[in-house]
Amino acid sequence: MRIVLLGAPGAGKGTVARALAAVDGSQTLSTGDLLRAAVKAGTPLGREAEGFMARGDLVPDRLIKELMEAWFQAGYGDRFILDGFPRTIPQAVSLGLLLKGLDRPLDRVVNLVVPEAVLVDRLSTRRTCFNTACNAIYNIRTQPPAEGDRCRLCGAPVVQREDETPEAIARRLQVYGEQTAALVGHYERTGLLLQVRELETSTIVQTILGALTEKAG
Ligand SMILES: [Zn+2]
Repeated sequence: MRIVLLGAPGAGKGTVARALAAVDGSQTLSTGDLLRAAVKAGTPLGREAEGFMARGDLVPDRLIKELMEAWFQAGYGDRFILDGFPRTIPQAVSLGLLLKGLDRPLDRVVNLVVPEAVLVDRLSTRRTCFNTACNAIYNIRTQPPAEGDRCRLCGAPVVQREDETPEAIARRLQVYGEQTAALVGHYERTGLLLQVRELETSTIVQTILGALTEKAG
């Protein structure tokens, strides 16, 4: 499949992307994956990205776009699930042109619609392993860390990320809403948009697979 997953922080894009990838072996790609891989490879683009990240600055659209192009041109992405990209209409337009040039059109753009109260609850109960080499994710309700707030995998302290405090979450959701409303409208006009209003990963996956089959048939 070739799809883009849209959804607010906490909507479960990463989990859904992994579940979909398991169905047909499509590659999942988030902007975080893309940045980490480029930094690790030490390419000129990777070194540029590293500079922005080290300063704590947002990596600009242009650089993300160049990294995405390099990824596709390196022969990846025959089948893919993009998680968290594009974020803006200019990014969506450049992705569309890139895929057109490669003759790999998108099958669907899936928007995971989750009520705000559910997002806030999921994010504020999330905890992350402090060890950056591990970064295991926990949930104080559904998947708690080991005794003394320790990581079950590496034993490091498990903490609440600064961007997962209630105040930070409210800001992130507001920014997301402002950015994404336009993007959803863009994909609605292109006829690619699929709005999914389910909360269980298995139901979400079935809904998406059903829509893809319908389109193919
Ligand atoms: Zn850990």
